[in-house]
Amino acid sequence: MTTIEADAITRERKIVTAIPGPKSQAMHERRKNAVSNGVGAALPVYIAAAHDSIVVDIDGNQFIDMASGIGVTTIGHTDPAVVSAVQNQVASFTHTCFTVTPYEDYVRVAELLAAHTPGTHAKKAVLVNSGAEAIENAIKIARKYTGKNAVGVLDHAYHGRTNMTMAMNFKNSPYATGYGSLGTAVFRAPSSYPYWDGLTGEEAAERTIWYFEKQVGVDDLACIFAEPIQGEGGFMVPADGYLNAIQAWCTKNNVVFIADEVQSGMARTGAYFASETFGLVPDLITTAKGIAGGMPLAGVVGRAEIMDASHPGGLGGTFGGNPVSCAASVAVFEQIERENLLAEARRVEKTLVGGLLELQKKYPFIGEVRGKGAMIAIELVQPGTKTSNPEAVTKAIAYAFQKGVLLLNAGTNYNVIRFLPSVKTSDALLLDVVSVLDEAFATI
Ligand SMILES: *Cc1c(COP(=O)(O)O)cnc(C)c1O
Repeated sequence: MTTIEADAITRERKIVTAIPGPKSQAMHERRKNAVSNGVGAALPVYIAAAHDSIVVDIDGNQFIDMASGIGVTTIGHTDPAVVSAVQNQVASFTHTCFTVTPYEDYVRVAELLAAHTPGTHAKKAVLVNSGAEAIENAIKIARKYTGKNAVGVLDHAYHGRTNMTMAMNFKNSPYATGYGSLGTAVFRAPSSYPYWDGLTGEEAAERTIWYFEKQVGVDDLACIFAEPIQGEGGFMVPADGYLNAIQAWCTKNNVVFIADEVQSGMARTGAYFASETFGLVPDLITTAKGIAGGMPLAGVVGRAEIMDASHPGGLGGTFGGNPVSCAASVAVFEQIERENLLAEARRVEKTLVGGLLELQKKYPFIGEVRGKGAMIAIELVQPGTKTSNPEAVTKAIAYAFQKGVLLLNAGTNYNVIRFLPSVKTSDALLLDVVSVLDEAFATI
C-alpha cells in the first residue's frame, strides 16, 4: 500500500509514466482474476491518494478530477472537516443500527435535509445506503401514501441498478441486459430535451402528461420520477416551466412528484438542490452521491404527511444512516455554509462554460454547452447536424486521460462529455482542463 499525505499533493496535473502506468497495469491484471467482469473500469489508474481536485495514482501520476467518482466528492477530496468528522466518529462508535439504538447525527442529517430542500412545509426524511435504495424507498413511500401502484419515469432517465430501478432506466441495454424479468408497473414518457425537441416547457409537459394519462391514468399512477437535470442521460436542462407544470399536474391528481436529485443535489448546481434553481417544490427528493463527502449515504426527504404514511418497521435497514456517514454528511452541510460553496459552484459554471463556449466557436462538432453550477456538459455532434458523435467523445476523453484529466462520458448515445468537478476546483485548473480539451479536439 502506498500512502501519500493529502497535503503533499501539489495542485497540478503531472504525468510521469505511461497511462495507465506499470503499477496500475499490474494491479489491473490482479483485478481481472479477482473482480467480476460485470464491474466496469472507465479510467483504470489505481488510486493512492486524493486531495481537493487532484487524484494521485500508484505510479505517482496526478490527475485533475472532473469526475469526482461520479459526482460524489462535490466539496473536494479529503476535505479537512470531513476527514476529522469521520475520524472522530470512527473512534466513538461505528454502528448501533438506528432502528435499534438511535443517535443524534441521523436526526441532524434529517433536519438539515428538511432545512435545505425547497418549500417551507413540514418535511421528514429516511436515510439509506445508495441512490438506488433511495429510489426504491421513494416508490414504497409513494405507493403507501396514495394507495396506487404505477411508477412514471422519463426518457433518458437513469435511476440505478437494483431490480426496480433497472426497470426505470431509459436504457435497458446495458443496465438490465440478461438480468431477467424487471420490476413491473413502470411507464415511460418523453422528457424535455430542448436541444433535440425544440419544445417550450409547457409543450413538453403537455406531451409528458398526455403519455401518462393515456398509458396509465391518474387512478393508477402513484408517482413520477424526474431528474431536474438528467445525469447519465446527458445533463439536459429542461425547458423553463416543464418540471413545474408536471408538479402542478401531480398535485391536482394525487400523484407524488419525486425529484431524483442523486446527481444534481448537494450544492452541485449552485443551490443545495437543483429543484430550487427551477423554482420547483417537489413532493419528495431522493439524494445520495454528494451528500456525505464520499461516505455511503442516501436519503428520501419530503412532505411529512407522505413520509409518515409508512407504518413503523416498513422503512429502514441494517446500515441505513450509518453514524460515520452521517457525521461526514453533517460536516459537508457545514462546509457548504462556512466556505460559501453554493457561490463556488456558480463560479465553476462561469469559468468552465466561458472556456467551453470559446471552444465551441472553434470546433463545429460541439453542438451544445449546457448545465448549471459544477454540472456542465458538452454534446458532440456531426458538424452542421444534431446527429450524435460518440467517436469524438471517446477520443477526447482518452486524450485527456493521457494528459492527466479525468473526464466521464454521458448521454443516451454516449454523445456527451460531462464535467462534475469539485465546486472548489480553482479557475486555473478549470482553464487548464479547457486547454487540454482544445488540444484533444485539434486532433479530431
Ligand atoms: C447515480 C444515480 C442513481 C443511483 O445511485 P447509486 O448510489 O449508484 O445506487 C440514481 N439516480 C441518479 C440520478 C443517479 O445519478
